[in-house]
Amino acid sequence: DLNSYGSNAANLTTCCYCGVGCGIVTSKDKLGRLHVEGDKNHPVNKGMLCSKGMNLHYTVNDRTDRLLYPEMRYNRNQPRQRVTWDAALERTAKVFATLIEKYGPDSVAFYASGQCLTEEYYVINKLIKGFIGSNNIDTNSRLCMSSAVVGYKLSLGEDSVPVSYDDLELADVIFVAGANPAWCHPILWRRVEAAREKNPDLKIIVSDPRKTQTCSLANVHLQLNPGTDVTLHHAIGRVLIEDGKIDNDFISNHAEGFEKYRTTVFERTVAEAAIVCGVAEKDIRLAASYIGNAKGFITMWTMGLNQSVIGVNKNLSLINLNLITGHIGKPGSGPLSLTGQPNAMGGREVGGLSNLLPAHRDLLNPEHRAAVEQFWGVAPGTIAAKPGLTATEMFEALNDGRLKAIWILCTNPLISLPDVRAAEEGLKKAKFVVVQDVSNRPETIRYADVVLPAAAWTEKEGTMTNAERRISYLNKIIDAPGEALPDAEIICRFAKKMGYNGFDYNSFAEIFAEHAALTAGTNVDMSGLSYEILKEKRTVQWPYPKDAEGYGTQRLFTDKKFYTASKKAIIHSFSDENQSEKLSPDFPLILTTGRIRDQWHTMSKTGKVNKLKQHISESFLEIHPDDAEKRSIKENDVVEIFNGRGNVRVKAKFTTDIKKGVVFLPMHWGKVLNSDLNRANNLTNNLVDPKSKEPDFKFSAVEVKLYKKA
Ligand code: SF4
Repeated sequence: DLNSYGSNAANLTTCCYCGVGCGIVTSKDKLGRLHVEGDKNHPVNKGMLCSKGMNLHYTVNDRTDRLLYPEMRYNRNQPRQRVTWDAALERTAKVFATLIEKYGPDSVAFYASGQCLTEEYYVINKLIKGFIGSNNIDTNSRLCMSSAVVGYKLSLGEDSVPVSYDDLELADVIFVAGANPAWCHPILWRRVEAAREKNPDLKIIVSDPRKTQTCSLANVHLQLNPGTDVTLHHAIGRVLIEDGKIDNDFISNHAEGFEKYRTTVFERTVAEAAIVCGVAEKDIRLAASYIGNAKGFITMWTMGLNQSVIGVNKNLSLINLNLITGHIGKPGSGPLSLTGQPNAMGGREVGGLSNLLPAHRDLLNPEHRAAVEQFWGVAPGTIAAKPGLTATEMFEALNDGRLKAIWILCTNPLISLPDVRAAEEGLKKAKFVVVQDVSNRPETIRYADVVLPAAAWTEKEGTMTNAERRISYLNKIIDAPGEALPDAEIICRFAKKMGYNGFDYNSFAEIFAEHAALTAGTNVDMSGLSYEILKEKRTVQWPYPKDAEGYGTQRLFTDKKFYTASKKAIIHSFSDENQSEKLSPDFPLILTTGRIRDQWHTMSKTGKVNKLKQHISESFLEIHPDDAEKRSIKENDVVEIFNGRGNVRVKAKFTTDIKKGVVFLPMHWGKVLNSDLNRANNLTNNLVDPKSKEPDFKFSAVEVKLYKKA
């Protein structure tokens, strides 16, 4: 039993890339350099690591670009000077206090990351919501999974992933929607590959406008037009109803909203839906027949659904397929949203977004605000009732002057935000910018007034939660270079400079204990956990209340009681209309962006590893040969992709694996040698889902023209 060991070993940690959460064993050579290998005893990866994970040690051994000392400047035309920690934090506290006094608490903001450890998220959230009195904290997780959060809340009553990875091995149908786990969550996909080897009857359905590596395992690939996912899910729902393949007992006793759903999905015939989606009707029916005959049915998705102006509806329409078939709360069945970042889930647990409170409490609920205020020992009414600014709103507010100061930590927004040139204008206008990071990456840091050096992975301890609610403790294994400090310590030192009580922790274990205590009695209860238990058990899944035994909760909703007021799951109904940017004769192509196999986010870590550049070494435009021919473009020509927001120049790569009318750019590259012409987000638009505020990275109107012949 892989779960039944605990070692207290000081060399164990967890991969800091994607949300799969693979266990890693570290060792040091004679020169003190770190080495990594997959943890054979870890229940997630059972010894396996993907190309990114197995090269992680290079990212900490190579310290050439590390920030070593606090730096600041009073004039952005001057270079930054090295200063002491006290000087940097005292100045930052003075500026923040002055701005808050003059313009109010909402004049400052923190923009953090799904790579922060849970303890770091917790103290930042506590600082701004409980002491500064603003909800202006958001993270790059807003760009990644906020549509899934809202989808779960609306359908299941709370942001709760019901399944475990083990369920993938118990399913006989897996529907991968808008995701390429073969490249982006590789170890999880290897488990699916192994499950297929054991069970050749395992059916895999993939929906994606691109024929990706994941499709090589698919029984049916629904190569849909971008933005038509809801239409597709509705059509599958209709076939399931028509064929009598729904779970009437579950619908009657454990769900609400079915009648309206039936009416909605019957508004379009399957043949009409097939035309809208650009897929064959028979393939929709085939996918539905697999689902209808499944004993275990998992839906699995990421950015293709989340990063959309209708991202919440895409999530809900997929979850509906689990609900109408009763495939939830039992082995091998349920929805499984994958997270792009290692601790996006931990951030959700502590309420680290501008519209959340700790332990999945509701910011708009006065009783919930009062409970958190009481716990933190702050005056009633301290936590503002109004949600704070989200990721994209922060940069808009810098642009129009509402927001004066921003503290950016552990993320590189001037590559990752949509419509990034507009975001850059915002940062230029900010009165005060603090950048707290590991590496001296130029894109964002060039606008910093104060730079704070942070400790990297393995240089600090803390916890993370992966996509299946699995909490792991990460050891501090090596010392941070120079004067770099753990992020949580930096925030606590700053809070004390601001004169706030409540940040006098003696250890990171104390921060975790406080966070865990705040979850007591909630659905995310982990009050039975401590560093001691996590070190002993290595990893457990929440909920883990005081009296918990074993390794936590593998599966939610086994009693069919959901977290809604009625205890029933909600089947939501809505139009399938896409609200994305409209194409035009000037900009007739749909740009979609995404990851490649061996790079991660803005390449601040993976970009350091030569081995990882061997797969794909430079940015490129994926384009269908027919679309290229119309524009007199040959393979490897340098092309310019452009629209009203900006342009990108990269080589054209021909493929028939992408739909005609759609082009793809990888999201990773940013500025090179002072040119930003390989930055995909020069072109993406600033439309967001109205409920989740997640941007529409998968659908921007562009045109492509020849720039230079190969
Ligand atoms: Fe790390 Fe994800 Fe690869 Fe596992 S699958 S080694 S968590 S990047």
